[in-house]
Amino acid sequence: MVSSYTAGDTLEKVADEIIHCPLCKLSQSRRNAVPGDGRMSAKIMFIGEAPGRHEDEKGKPFVGAAGRILNDALEKAGIERSLVFITNLVKCRPPGNRIPEEDERSACRSYLERQVAIVAPKIICILGSTAYSSILGGKSITADRGRIVKRDGQKYFLTIHPASAIYNKSLHLVLYEDIRKLSKELKKMETENTNRSLDPA
Ligand code: URA
Repeated sequence: MVSSYTAGDTLEKVADEIIHCPLCKLSQSRRNAVPGDGRMSAKIMFIGEAPGRHEDEKGKPFVGAAGRILNDALEKAGIERSLVFITNLVKCRPPGNRIPEEDERSACRSYLERQVAIVAPKIICILGSTAYSSILGGKSITADRGRIVKRDGQKYFLTIHPASAIYNKSLHLVLYEDIRKLSKELKKMETENTNRSLDPA
């Protein structure tokens, strides 16, 4: 993903543009656009696919069944939701929750790139195959989940989409395990950083 930070750009400014965005056909069917939620200083940024029905109603990401599963996974891993930034590849709900189409993904791309540039997260957690294929060109999230990928100086962590665990209990454990691994990776990165800054050389 290209980082596109412009001095003075803010999450509020990006959110305002998303809320009024007319760039693709989803703008005609949405109730609310869903820019994302969280801190500018977040160390972890989560990227899902697109808002569902509940998100479209509330204008907030991951507030339905998939959101409850994500919240559980965060809690079990000791990650506070209010300290991360959560968004989606596409900011408006595709009708019937279909997979977002190419033109919809590209209309939203610069919003996501700006959000990444503003938050500058230490690690981005990709949730599911749609975000994986669009952002990293990945083929199989099932095969690659749990892995860390470095691309253009940005670290990514790959895991399944929480919605895939709604009707499959065993995938809850997979997600919990992965989010725990993500939390450990972040701690490791922070320790390495501290050690580096204490190094007299
Ligand atoms: N699924 C997503 O990908 N994002 C949401 O915000 C909700 C469900």
